[in-house]
Amino acid sequence: MTMPQAPFEGARGFQFAEKSIFERGTPGRTAVSLPPLDVPPVDAKKHFGRFSRVEAAGLPEVSEPEVTRHFVRLSQHNFSIDTQFYPLGSCTMKFNPKVNEWAARLRGFANVHPYMPESMWQGGLELMARLEDLLADIVGMDHVNLQPAAGAQGELAGLMMIRAFHQSKGRTPKKVLIPDTAHGTNPASCALNGLVAVPFPSGDDGIVDPARVAALIDDDTAAIMITNPNTIGLFERHLPTISNMVHDNGALVYGDGANLNALMGRARPGDLGVDVMQFNLHKTFTTPHGGGGPGCGPVAFKKTLEPFQPLPVVKRTAKSSQVSYSLDYDRKESIGRLRSFIGNFGMMVRAYAYIREMGAEGLKAATDLAVLNANYVRAEIGDEYPVAFDALCMHEVIVSDKRLQKETGIKTLDIAKRLIDFGFHPPTVYFPLVVAGAMMIEPTETESKETIDQFIAAMKQIAQEARENPDKLREAPTTTRIARLDEARAARKPRLRWSPGTDAAQ
Ligand SMILES: *Cc1c(COP(=O)(O)O)cnc(C)c1O
Repeated sequence: MTMPQAPFEGARGFQFAEKSIFERGTPGRTAVSLPPLDVPPVDAKKHFGRFSRVEAAGLPEVSEPEVTRHFVRLSQHNFSIDTQFYPLGSCTMKFNPKVNEWAARLRGFANVHPYMPESMWQGGLELMARLEDLLADIVGMDHVNLQPAAGAQGELAGLMMIRAFHQSKGRTPKKVLIPDTAHGTNPASCALNGLVAVPFPSGDDGIVDPARVAALIDDDTAAIMITNPNTIGLFERHLPTISNMVHDNGALVYGDGANLNALMGRARPGDLGVDVMQFNLHKTFTTPHGGGGPGCGPVAFKKTLEPFQPLPVVKRTAKSSQVSYSLDYDRKESIGRLRSFIGNFGMMVRAYAYIREMGAEGLKAATDLAVLNANYVRAEIGDEYPVAFDALCMHEVIVSDKRLQKETGIKTLDIAKRLIDFGFHPPTVYFPLVVAGAMMIEPTETESKETIDQFIAAMKQIAQEARENPDKLREAPTTTRIARLDEARAARKPRLRWSPGTDAAQ
């Protein structure tokens, strides 16, 4: 089924081909009605000089229904967790409960302004202090700082703290050991910090082999960065041994906490020897994946790293029975600020609401279900798409289509695109790099068995199509507004203007 090209601007059934908002409307049309001016007009140029506008702002002149429909339609062009199954591995696209949104919109939270005196938003500061305590408890660390705006910035903060820790001891080790299964942000965080990433291969069983770490570690080693479970969905069983070895050499253990959805309530990185780690609140704690922001990637750390945490630090002061909260900016050894003000407060409210809603038992159940669902997918599609490592997986499973590729000539991307025709967001493909033909599937705990079964059926049908009619797969997707994009060109040279006979977003 291929959609007809629209020769005109307008609707095709319920799909829309329309000009960009800047190319629409007509002069004088407006979506607002203002009361007549009740003060004498002034010459803006005279009063505000160079600050006055000399040209029109160039805003679209459209009516309220036009502007409403435009933005609602744009939102419908997006695939979202509120509309469909989104098993994008490594991203933990779990459903975001609406109670989080209710909490974030409570007036006392939504209207907090960064320049308000602390005495006026004690409740907000208390929420931050409580969230820090809850997060620290969940991962077995001593402290948490909520400042970083994403997981990657949390990594950066953690590595800056590690560097400051070594400097405080008069040392400047440069190397950070990173296994080959790591996320690309790990070496990037090192580079931004003036540290040198030293990649090394994992063992044949897909996890880090302590002997390989032992062979690499030396006086110039600042830390090891390790993701647990790692990005191939396997539990790093030797982490306590590795941590001891790293500590004995005066180095520290950075734990990439992006995969906490497989541990929460069951194992604590702090107990396994991790010194500092980040959370990705949009993964584990159901804050929205913000298309790049605003996000929150708190760092958690042990006591030894406490003096170096970013600014500001939420301080709790108890005077007789009265507890008050303030922001401490006066910390000499701190790595300093990572962003403006206190970070993305709205995300903190959402994560706090989620943790309180779930409770300890609920978080544990989320972990168990996430792991169960991934293993269910693994067991059901394993015949067609063999697993990369023959072991129970954690919250995500990595399968390979290498065999199907050999048999039929189709590519991993063809399978991914065909899944769109079945109404599913494709899993992560071609990652991790260590697995040929990798498809990384993370169903998460929030999906029903019926949904997961439909996905499994689609994966099986695609394997059959690959054998019977591989060309059909190469054409996929055929049910979307736009067929297969040249993704590199679309990212590098986006064409944002509409012209007749073409689709607006092509
Ligand atoms: C997602 C992810 C990151 C980066 O986190 P962001 O919040 O997207 O910046 C780092 N490491 C791993 C393993 C991840 O999955």
